[in-house]
Amino acid sequence: MINEIVLATSNIHKVKEIKLILNDLNVEILPMTSFPSYPITIEDGKTLEENASKKAREGASFFKKWTIADDSGIEVDFLNGNPGVYSARYAGKKCSDYENNKKLLKELKNVPQEKRTAKFKTVIAISNPNGKILLVAGEIFGIITNCVGVNGFGYDPVFYIPKYKKTLAELSPRVKNSVSHRAKALEKAKKIIRKLLNSSGK
Ligand code: IMP
Repeated sequence: MINEIVLATSNIHKVKEIKLILNDLNVEILPMTSFPSYPITIEDGKTLEENASKKAREGASFFKKWTIADDSGIEVDFLNGNPGVYSARYAGKKCSDYENNKKLLKELKNVPQEKRTAKFKTVIAISNPNGKILLVAGEIFGIITNCVGVNGFGYDPVFYIPKYKKTLAELSPRVKNSVSHRAKALEKAKKIIRKLLNSSGK
């Protein structure tokens, strides 16, 4: 019987979002941020799937527990899908969200709105204690715009959703967590976790 799942991320914003979205599951979520001595996974995969799987597998092997991890990236059509899997370090190693957004806007300077289409993608990996992985994904489509809004994190201020006439950083956490790439992937993950909770969890 599973009663706890490790959440393999050191990103406090993700912890907050993921815990909120999963809060109706009858399971305790153990964020990696509660275990400061846990070594951070090196994200050297060539795809979001590889990185999410690696994070989940390393967490599962360390804690000997079911573990979930997410890897996300923004894919801009005008930049041939970049920065994609390299979104976190787009402006350089250890760069800030501000620097990433600044670089993205610089790359798209003078590019008209109709060519600034992009998608955000999240891949969630669910690992059993032995490292066997299940993958699910979610996407949201938008347009890269000048920075607006103070909510969220990362690329949220530059990711405009035409349907809401707002950037992700202008949406309330409640709305972002019902429409985002991560929310969609987590809804799929939830179905799998619910089944596990009702089984022996092997
Ligand atoms: P990672 O999944 O932590 O590797 O994130 C890749 C990059 O995308 C980082 O720069 C994050 O800040 C950014 N990112 C991840 N999730 C989101 C999101 O929900 N909104 C905006 N930016 C995000």
